[in-house]
Amino acid sequence: MARAINFSAGPALLPEPVLRQAAEEMLDWHGSGMSVMEMSHRGPEFISIYEEAVALLRELLAVPANYKILFMQGGGLAENALVPLNLLGKAGKADYVVTGSWSKKSYKEAQRYGDVQLAADAAALSGDGKYRGIPPVSEWKLRPDAGYVHVCNNETIDGVEFFFTPGTGGVPLVADVSSHVLSRPLDISGYGAVYGGAQKNIGPAGLTIVIVRDDLLDRAHALTPTAFEFKTVAENDSMYNTPPTYAIYIAGLVFKWLKSQGGLAGMEARNIEKAKLLYEAIDASGLYGNTVAKDARSRMNVPFFLKDEALNADFLKGAKERGMVQLKGHRSVGGMRASIYNAMPIEGVRALVDYMREFEKARG
Ligand SMILES: *Cc1c(COP(=O)(O)O)cnc(C)c1O
Repeated sequence: MARAINFSAGPALLPEPVLRQAAEEMLDWHGSGMSVMEMSHRGPEFISIYEEAVALLRELLAVPANYKILFMQGGGLAENALVPLNLLGKAGKADYVVTGSWSKKSYKEAQRYGDVQLAADAAALSGDGKYRGIPPVSEWKLRPDAGYVHVCNNETIDGVEFFFTPGTGGVPLVADVSSHVLSRPLDISGYGAVYGGAQKNIGPAGLTIVIVRDDLLDRAHALTPTAFEFKTVAENDSMYNTPPTYAIYIAGLVFKWLKSQGGLAGMEARNIEKAKLLYEAIDASGLYGNTVAKDARSRMNVPFFLKDEALNADFLKGAKERGMVQLKGHRSVGGMRASIYNAMPIEGVRALVDYMREFEKARG
């Protein structure tokens, strides 16, 4: 069986050892006579799986003791509503920084729930409506009485990543970390809350992770659905309703794998090496281009363009023949996109770069 070299933006590839272990344990988890999918979420077997997953995530990200880790459902898009419902608070105000398609969606959805303003818009600055970097923090229009400031730490579609934690003058910072969480250490204490769907860099779709400072748990709007109230979820150890049990199990295996790879510092070193290899190949070529400011180029999602767009279809066809799939760019951006999450080995990036050179030589 040949596994594809999978550059999907999400749901994305998982570490092969994790898939193998899950396959081995599919019918009988640790002598329980049950698949994890068949277990009660309140039984001792699953509780041990859950507790280990939470503890490993806390350890990997060095989550401070005054933050709760919540395992929810609904993905990043549900959080676009759940964040304002839970965190706007009495003043009902929040400021949003838009650096790409995902933060734009977050901003639009949040507007339904309160006085939500645009603090900065990267597309307005670039002159052509494209997202190419992060507006200087000194120019963000922040209100000191806002409930929070929202950013997307890694724009999966546009390939723009924050490599710093912006100061917001004491207003809690909330970040969508869906597509770069666990790719490197992140100072959680710089945030009021972070959230993300699991299917990019953690595990299967269906699990959503929220990490929230405990002093922010008392702010929910009265109409927040009980099952989605951060406080309720926290007080019930993510078991107010049935959590996505199998996805939590796989996430736990991924966390163990990450630990075996040297934790997030080890992961970061590998991710830097992979991204460098790919961006250097793009920059050195006459055929390929990437238009994101160098200090904001995502290590996880690398959009690139062929200067002659008529070659796109042939490029993708040749890639597929070499086992490389899901390289087509998002429809809103065009071109190509290589997502090179934690589970992508450097050999996969090497294969892509070799193919890009070969294609340029033949067709560029
Ligand atoms: C994929 C993604 C989302 C959407 O997640 P869903 O699980 O589809 O709701 C939101 N934000 C970012 C940054 C993403 O990459």
